Amino acid sequence: MAFHAMSQPAGSAVGPENVERFRGASRRRTLVINRPAAEVRSASVIALQNGAVIVPHPFYSDAPQRIEWDIAGFCRNPVPVLQRGEGHMEASSPVAVRSGEAVWQPGRDLAQMVPCRQCKECLKVRAWRWGEAAKREFNLSEAAGCRTHFGTLTFRPEVRYLLLTAARSRLDREGICLEALPPKEQFAELHHETGHLVTNFLKDLRNGRLKSKVKPARFRYLLTVEPHSDWFPHYHVLLHEVDPLKPLRNAGLETLWKDHGFCKFRVARSTNACLYAAKYLSKVSFARVRASVNYGEAINGVRTIDPLNTLTF
Ligand SMILES: [Zn+2]
Repeated sequence: MAFHAMSQPAGSAVGPENVERFRGASRRRTLVINRPAAEVRSASVIALQNGAVIVPHPFYSDAPQRIEWDIAGFCRNPVPVLQRGEGHMEASSPVAVRSGEAVWQPGRDLAQMVPCRQCKECLKVRAWRWGEAAKREFNLSEAAGCRTHFGTLTFRPEVRYLLLTAARSRLDREGICLEALPPKEQFAELHHETGHLVTNFLKDLRNGRLKSKVKPARFRYLLTVEPHSDWFPHYHVLLHEVDPLKPLRNAGLETLWKDHGFCKFRVARSTNACLYAAKYLSKVSFARVRASVNYGEAINGVRTIDPLNTLTF
């Protein structure tokens, strides 16, 4: 496989079951994206290098070429997406423009089966991917002689009350009642409020806070949010130090969060903490995750892009 292991645990070998998937898809609503032919063509090149197949039109040899690419992996409910590259006249040189000899650029369609990101299998894959990414960050940090901190952030009753009020009045202005929303949406609205506090916490850790004698630190992070039994959000955080000269201090972590509530941090001794932080992502589709730019996309210290992430939505 040309792309690295993080892309899909299942691989996307073309087999009879995948052909079946595309045939079955004709009965499902396809998401159609119209794009310039050149863009679809370059996407198709990557697709063909990664197990896609060219499907000739059954009747017309000059019909747009169709590439089928199944990247839905284990998904039980894959979504058909069609990137339609439209054919067009293209002048290859100024001379051609003047003489009117423009060249016909044939169209090409890229049909994909992409994961639904909702089913049980997709959620397992999501947790697996973030777990693997976290392990990679843990190892990078360790190799640089740094530590990884794993912690949980919760909110005090007074802070909860303030955040609830903030969410209520924000929604009130739009004529929506927070309590009338389904629990999942209430959770999302509360996460919107609590997220600001967590963002500020991370900013303060990075910049330090002179008054509280917290020194600036350099780190990368992974943040997952999950609901308590009463649907109020709490956060699991992985903080990977990147500079041995600018470490995180336990006292600093506690000082910066103590206004908001309770936090418990410990130094992760193994990658088990990474898996724990990602575990919840496999349980419910509305669990959310936030991380540093290119989190976990480093191989041997070199940051790479994930071709599947750039091509799927
Ligand atoms: Zn799925």
